[in-house]
Amino acid sequence: MAKAHVLIFPLPLPGHLGSMLKLAELLALDNIHVTFVDTENIHIRLTRFGDIQELSECYPTLHFKTIPDCYDEEGEHPGFGDRVGDFITSTAQHAKPFLRDILVSQHSPGIPKVSCIIQDGIFGALSSDFAAELRIPLIHFRTVSSCCFWAYFCVPKLLDCKELPIKGEEDMDRIIRNMPGMENLLRCRDLPSFCRPNTEGNFLEWAVFRTRQSLAADALMLNTFEDLEGSVLSQMGQHFPKLYTIGPIHHHLKIRKAESNKAKDIPTFKNSLFQVDRSCMAWLEAQPQGSVIYVSFGSSTIVKREDLMEIWHGLVNSKKRFLWVMRPDIVAAKDNDDRIPAEVEEGTRERGLIVGWAPQEDVLAHKAVGGFFTHNGWNSTLDSVVAGVPMICWPYFADQQINSRFVSEVWKLGLDMKDVCDRHVVEKMVNDLMVHRKEEFLKSAQEMAMLAHKSVTPGGSSYSSFDDLIQYIKSASKEKN
Ligand code: UDP
Repeated sequence: MAKAHVLIFPLPLPGHLGSMLKLAELLALDNIHVTFVDTENIHIRLTRFGDIQELSECYPTLHFKTIPDCYDEEGEHPGFGDRVGDFITSTAQHAKPFLRDILVSQHSPGIPKVSCIIQDGIFGALSSDFAAELRIPLIHFRTVSSCCFWAYFCVPKLLDCKELPIKGEEDMDRIIRNMPGMENLLRCRDLPSFCRPNTEGNFLEWAVFRTRQSLAADALMLNTFEDLEGSVLSQMGQHFPKLYTIGPIHHHLKIRKAESNKAKDIPTFKNSLFQVDRSCMAWLEAQPQGSVIYVSFGSSTIVKREDLMEIWHGLVNSKKRFLWVMRPDIVAAKDNDDRIPAEVEEGTRERGLIVGWAPQEDVLAHKAVGGFFTHNGWNSTLDSVVAGVPMICWPYFADQQINSRFVSEVWKLGLDMKDVCDRHVVEKMVNDLMVHRKEEFLKSAQEMAMLAHKSVTPGGSSYSSFDDLIQYIKSASKEKN
C-alpha cells in the first residue's frame, strides 16, 4: 500500500496546469497518492474537452479536489496580459482556506495523510505555514524556463549595479553584462517582459519577490533538462541545493508510461482545456514532408488586429503552406473591422488551414511540419525542442522574451522576431527558416531533440532527477507515518 501522498496546486491557467497535471500523472504512475487541486471552471473544461474521467479511473491513487473560482466566468478572463499578477494574488488569497481544509480537515478512509506539498512556485509563500504546521516538505514547481527564473532572481543584483531599470525605448538594445551564467548575452529587450518600463502595476517587484520566496521551500522543481539549460542550472544550484529538473515533462511521461505499459496498458490522455480540432491531422497528411509552418501563440496571447494582418500577409506572401491556430478570442478589442483582403483569403484557401485549437504535440511530430511560428511559451518551446522543429519566435510577454533569445542565440534553433511585426519580415523569416537556412536549423533542432530524449530515458539527467524526487517524497512520508 502506497504511503506517500502529494498535494499538487497549480495556478489555474492552461500553461501551468498542463505541466503540473503531467507531473501528477508521473507520480501516480509510481503509485504515489496525488491530490490535484483545480478550480470549478478548470474542472468543467477538463471534463468537457479533456478526458479527466478516464484519467482518474486509470490511476486509483490520483484524486481531484475542486475549489470554487475566484472570478466571474462571464467577465473577461483575468489571466491575460499584464493583469496576470492580480489574478495570481487573488487566486492565492481565495484558495488558502480551501487548501487548509483539504490539508488539515479532510481525510478519506484508505488514503494516507498528505505527506508533501508541490505548489506552483508563482504563489510564493502560499503554503509555507501549512507545510510547517504539518511538518511536511514543501516543493515549489516553477513552470517557466530556468533562464527566466534566474533572470528574476538576479534582478536585485542588476539594480545594484545599475543595469536596471530599463530607461526607455532607446535603451532596449543595451547589453546586460552582469547576469551570472548569461554574461553579455541578453539585451534589455530580452529580459522577462515585466522588466520593461511602463508595465502595468508593480509586477516586476512582485515576480522577483515570489521567485526569491522559493529559497524558503524545501526543494525547487523545473520543467527543463541539463543539456538545455546547464549553465543557468549550475548557477541556480548554488542557491537551491535541492533542485529537481525533470523535463521535458510531456516527453518524460511518455517514456515512463511506455516502460510501465509492459505491465498494463495506459492510454494517452489529452487533458485539454479547449475543444481540440483534429481535422488538421488529415490536412497535414496531404501535405509534402517539411512543407508546413505551424503557427500558434498559445492559450492567452492577445494580438492587435493590425499585427494579425501583418502576420497573415507575410505567411501568404511567403508562398509556404501554413496551419494556424487562431483562437476565437485572439484579437484585442474588436473594432468592427472583420474584413479579410481577397488576396489573403485566396492564399489561405490555396495553402493554409486555420483551426481554433490544435493537438499541438501531434502536429509538431507530423512529418509535414517544417517550422513553428511561436510565442515561445515555455511548454510550446519544449514541444518544439522535443519534436526537433525549428522556430520563428514572436514573444508576447513574461518568460517568452528570454526564451526566444535562448532559442535564437544559445541553442541556434531558429529566428527571433521580437518587437517587430511587419509582413516583409514575416515573409523573409518564413523563407529563411523553411528554405534558405533550413539545413542549418534542422541539424541543431534534431541534435537538441536527441538530447531531450536522452535526458528522460534511463541514465539521463531528468530521468535520474525524477528518481531522486520520488526517493525524497517517499522518505519524507516514511518519517511522517
Ligand atoms: N497547445 C495545444 N494546442 C494549441 C496551442 C497550444 O495543445 O493549439 C498547448 C501546447 O502544447 C502547450 C500549451 O498549450 O502545452 C501552451 O502552453 P505555453 O506555455 O506554450 O503557452 P501559454 O498558453 O501558457 O501562453
